[in-house]
Amino acid sequence: MTLIPAQIIARKRDGAELSDTEIAFFVTGFTDETIPDYQMSALAMAIYLNGMTDRETAALTQQMLQSGTTLQWPNDQHIQVDKHSTGGVGDKISIPLAPLLACLGFQVPMLSGRGLGATGGTLDKLESIPGFRTDLSLDEIHRLTQDIGCVITGASRELAPADRKLYALRDVTATVSSIPLITASIMSKKLAESLDALVLDVKFGSGAFIKTRQQATQLAHSFVRTGNRMGVTTTALLTDMNQPLGRMCGNAVEIQESIDVMQGGGPDDVRQLTIELAVELLVSTKKETNRSAAAQSAKRLIDSGAVFEKYCRMVRAQAGNPEAKLKVASCAEVTAPQSGVVSEIDAEQLGAAIISMGGGRKQMSDQIDHAVGLEMLVRIGDVVDKGQPLANVFCAAPDACSPVISQAITVADEANPVPLIVDRISG
Ligand code: URA
Repeated sequence: MTLIPAQIIARKRDGAELSDTEIAFFVTGFTDETIPDYQMSALAMAIYLNGMTDRETAALTQQMLQSGTTLQWPNDQHIQVDKHSTGGVGDKISIPLAPLLACLGFQVPMLSGRGLGATGGTLDKLESIPGFRTDLSLDEIHRLTQDIGCVITGASRELAPADRKLYALRDVTATVSSIPLITASIMSKKLAESLDALVLDVKFGSGAFIKTRQQATQLAHSFVRTGNRMGVTTTALLTDMNQPLGRMCGNAVEIQESIDVMQGGGPDDVRQLTIELAVELLVSTKKETNRSAAAQSAKRLIDSGAVFEKYCRMVRAQAGNPEAKLKVASCAEVTAPQSGVVSEIDAEQLGAAIISMGGGRKQMSDQIDHAVGLEMLVRIGDVVDKGQPLANVFCAAPDACSPVISQAITVADEANPVPLIVDRISG
């Protein structure tokens, strides 16, 4: 049967369920450029408006995954795992989590991204470390993952190229925020790592790109159903991002905070989430049956210094110097305008302030200033006195951004603090 792009677009426009063959035809044609961008854009909008069934979403993911090469692992006893976070201000969890998972006996070929909107990117943070390479070749990813147990690097162009092309189109055709399109985009890249298990950290709130718990829940279920349908054990945590994760936001300062966590210190929320994501993978891969025993194993490895040692090996293997003193800009305080309770933190606004200081990009070609950032000294629910420091700003010229940071922190009469991990979703 001859397939005609316009007819497939019309079927999706009218709410029909596309067959695997139709989806394969479209993605293959888009990748080899026999189907032009304008037809792919029209299909993306039809998907945006009418959604996709689980079968269609998995077929789209599969086709995007097959548009490129995949990592291949020897058929031995090793278990390959990874974590994906939908991103949030201060989210540095990948940095302590990858070496922790390696210490737990997993292999972790972690492919990470750069900043998206107000949320910082793991690769930008790691590039604060002098010499650190985030452009490992596929051969290097294979070798170092097997030798050391983990790498954190950028996705190579050979993996899921259809997603790279489609994401660029979605960005300019108002079709980014579609659950099946986000699912296929993220899962095709993650599943190209040929994983046994994946855990997702789906974030909602002012510091995340998904604002409501309801939307985050739908997305988490879509990730979990798609991953499991495609044979990869997939679970998700739903986490609150209505305030920055940890105290530090920026690049070099987040590396320092990650090191504190790997050395057994650091803020409680960063330590807790790192451990809970490791527990998810220990339990979902059946390496542990008991969640509290799994958490104890993770804590022991962190507190013994083994995780920090693994991190140092990974950084050296990626040409970085883990002992280098990281440059941080001079510090100025933002203080409370009145006494009361911290009731709200506009984390998106804080992320935007970091971008305006040069710590993130306004345009893809912008150079990052790794030395700028901020340290949050309060969390929602803290009682503060007028004049008490709320945050430290690391920036050569803090006068321009300090008012924005001050406005992002609301001090009122009462507050309703929310827990960090609000739900756990499994197949
Ligand atoms: N990040 C991605 O990689 N893809 C999306 O669709 C959204 C965020």
